[in-house]
Amino acid sequence: MDFRAEGEALLPDLQALRRQLHRDPEVGLDLPRTQQTVLDALADLDLEIARGTDTTSVVAVLRGARPGPVVLLRGDMDALPIVEQTGLDYASHNGAMHACGHDLHTAGVVGAARILAGHRDELPGAVVFMFQPGEEGCNGASIMLREGVLDAAGEKPVAAYAAHVAPGEFGVFGTRPGTVMAGSNALSITVNGRGGHGSMPHTATDPVPALAEIVTALQVMATRDFDAFDPVLISVTMLQAGNAQNVIPEKASLRATVRALSDAAVERLIARTRELAEGIAAAHQCTADVDFEVLYPVTVNDPAETEASVSALRELFGDERVAVLPNPAMGSEDFSFVLGEVPGTFVMLQASPPELDAATLAVNHSPFVVFDDRVLGDQAAALAHLAWTRLHATRD
Ligand SMILES: [Zn+2]
Repeated sequence: MDFRAEGEALLPDLQALRRQLHRDPEVGLDLPRTQQTVLDALADLDLEIARGTDTTSVVAVLRGARPGPVVLLRGDMDALPIVEQTGLDYASHNGAMHACGHDLHTAGVVGAARILAGHRDELPGAVVFMFQPGEEGCNGASIMLREGVLDAAGEKPVAAYAAHVAPGEFGVFGTRPGTVMAGSNALSITVNGRGGHGSMPHTATDPVPALAEIVTALQVMATRDFDAFDPVLISVTMLQAGNAQNVIPEKASLRATVRALSDAAVERLIARTRELAEGIAAAHQCTADVDFEVLYPVTVNDPAETEASVSALRELFGDERVAVLPNPAMGSEDFSFVLGEVPGTFVMLQASPPELDAATLAVNHSPFVVFDDRVLGDQAAALAHLAWTRLHATRD
């Protein structure tokens, strides 16, 4: 069999599907039109299909003719609340945009389902296709885990894979063992003082200078308290205090996004941000309320699965098209929740149109970002091949 040729043969259909999704993007957990499009795209295949109970997910199970284990392939389906400015003839005009390429992820998994379904007779075990809403901050993956996606085929998958498009040289895959994407966390700090007249600060307890010290102390903490080879990143993005120029406010607060590359660093951040804020507030006779919320954990690729994935992809596409990435990305992924339950690999797939200038490429979440959907044949082949290789590896 030749999955690359089969992916190439599917390309016109997959491009049409991707463009249909691209024209009509939906945001968040409620994606009724997208869900229907996926159901229609899978309708002629012999799959066990279930719609989500708590969200607009789709789970499809392909049962091979031979006994074997279960693997899972995931495609996220949601778009972003961004007004598209690409000028493409299939651009969205509804105020939302597939600016993170999830339209390609969905079409790619449909393609993998189509390829694998054509080889059902030689397929040992089963493949679960996980079509997920709400990746962009809504934690759709956890909802699908609660809905039972890992039990969809009757037993827990032995491996899970997902591919994510990124800007860069067309058709190059990249992944790495261990941490591949950062964990995303939200930090909120409120300093409580005692309000008063702006002309008589000694009769009040001003929370503003304490909060200002906390902002800079967080940056010092990030460089002094953490291993340079296990870095953390803190961006204070919101500051709030008072509503009158001549009044010392009661409270002052900040919000920040906090990224980390290991669970150990997240644990330390939870403890250290609290100590720092409470300590600085106390030194100014204030108190601090600290809320550290883990949004998405660190995405960690299983080393053995990832080594096997890199070999499998190189077998199909050659060494020069499959890179082992030197560094994780500081973005985040809720596929981290799936990889917390099942060993597997998250793969980046570069898909910028080759004719664009590499130096000025728009990135994911930009209203100008363009992904070249000619990559979909290889994307579908890659996902199918990862599942196929894993199912046969277990049989041998
Ligand atoms: Zn994304």
